[in-house]
Amino acid sequence: MNSGAHIRTDVVVIGGGLAGLASAMHLRRAGLGVICLEPVEHSERMVGESLDWSAPELFEQLGFAMEDLVEAGIATYKRHVVLQLRDGSRAEYIPSEWLGKPPFNIELRTLHLDRVRLHVELRKMAERAGITFVGETATGVERTGNRLRAVVTNSGSRYEGNWFVDASGSAASFLGRQLKLPYAEYGPKKVGIWSYASVEDWQEGTTLYTDTQDDEYFSWVWEIPIAPGTVSIGYVTTGANLKRQRANGESVDDVFRRQLSKFERFEQVLAKGNLEPPEVRSFQCRACKTACGPNWVIAGEAAAVPDPITGNGVTAALRHAAEGTRMILESLTRGSISWYRRIRYNMRLSHMAKFFNGLIERLAYTCTLRNRFGLLKTGDVYTALAWSMNHLYSRMRPGGMLGTAVFCTALSGLRALAWLAEQLVRLAPARGGFVPQEAY
Ligand SMILES: Cc1cc2nc3c(=O)[nH]c(=O)nc-3n(C[C@H](O)[C@H](O)[C@H](O)COP(=O)(O)OP(=O)(O)OC[C@H]3O[C@@H](n4cnc5c(N)ncnc54)[C@H](O)[C@@H]3O)c2cc1C
Repeated sequence: MNSGAHIRTDVVVIGGGLAGLASAMHLRRAGLGVICLEPVEHSERMVGESLDWSAPELFEQLGFAMEDLVEAGIATYKRHVVLQLRDGSRAEYIPSEWLGKPPFNIELRTLHLDRVRLHVELRKMAERAGITFVGETATGVERTGNRLRAVVTNSGSRYEGNWFVDASGSAASFLGRQLKLPYAEYGPKKVGIWSYASVEDWQEGTTLYTDTQDDEYFSWVWEIPIAPGTVSIGYVTTGANLKRQRANGESVDDVFRRQLSKFERFEQVLAKGNLEPPEVRSFQCRACKTACGPNWVIAGEAAAVPDPITGNGVTAALRHAAEGTRMILESLTRGSISWYRRIRYNMRLSHMAKFFNGLIERLAYTCTLRNRFGLLKTGDVYTALAWSMNHLYSRMRPGGMLGTAVFCTALSGLRALAWLAEQLVRLAPARGGFVPQEAY
């Protein structure tokens, strides 16, 4: 592509991560010309490895069946999640077998993914489908009112389109910044530190470890078997906590290793010395209040960031891509997305983000409910609610105004119940004289 070029196409997709590639594929398959701006072909460290139970169906729509991914060694089956406390107590969250039988027929397995290998396959598929990739960074937009005309890149090129999809991720949030869009935030700024190690005794499940004390804000370690013999190991804590430890002269690697050394499980990994130097990413859980306009849609983490412990980031990115591009395809003749389609998309996106982030903050991260009922129990409540609502969403596919309104009301109702439970616990005298604090 020449520097300073002026190119015209049907759709310009900004960002070629998961949300961008999925959006580009949906639009290309519908026959539209698609240019995807992506400066990085792929990073060597990509998160989003432990999927929830709704994601495999969405990958299948893109052409990646669960069995094929496992056979190709790109994924392993995930059949359960284990929450392991430092005192040795644990809870196993596993969908009941009866759900897999008629009339429910729910798939009880989901996946852990080797995200880099999957990304390479997705990108090849997109190139074969005729999507044009340009290794440039979007730096600005040209617009008339709220309608975009073109995206300008770091090379001075100008990409004109009828439609635009922003899938630039949370760090860039390209359109959010360009259009100064409002976001709702949940919880404090957090940081994920992660690496990979080879292990012999890997299991078909995600394991979460924590040594969080009663009055502390929750932090946790993940172990995800992304491929036979390879595990991804990560630590999530608040940005403030990492900053405190760094101020004591510790490197990120020191902080990471010290956290892992608290759990017997990682003794061997640390002793063997085969843990790669860690990657760090800070993030803020949030949701964009206006994620679409007359000829643009925001998808993936540029639109909403669900907390990683919810395992909902990949599902959300694929759902936004499917629903956002469907809105574009339904609006081709009209030339702009109608206000009622936009309201529905915004409602579903923000209510789902609010539900997952709000619930996990109340039930796990902050300590009012956790201290009263115990983390293993609040974990049970969270898993049951999140799993059923996610599944209901996949089954109902709330697309119309009525379905969207009913679904979003149910989500709000459940959040209100969690809020009420928290208020009641605050009002009731605390057991053993302990007064729960929101500590972070
Ligand atoms: C620590 C951590 C752990 C996680 N674990 C899980 C998990 O276990 N399960 C789960 O489901 N989800 C998880 N997630 C969330 C999940 O990784 C993401 O939601 C998912 O990958 C969606 O990515 P995306 O495509 O929206 O953004 P990204 O993958 O960030 O892609 C954005 C792309 O846009 C490109 N870009 C940026 N700016 C520009 C620009 N100006 N112009 C052009 N291109 C640009 C970038 O190069 C990048 O390739 C985790 C997130 C974090 C932070």
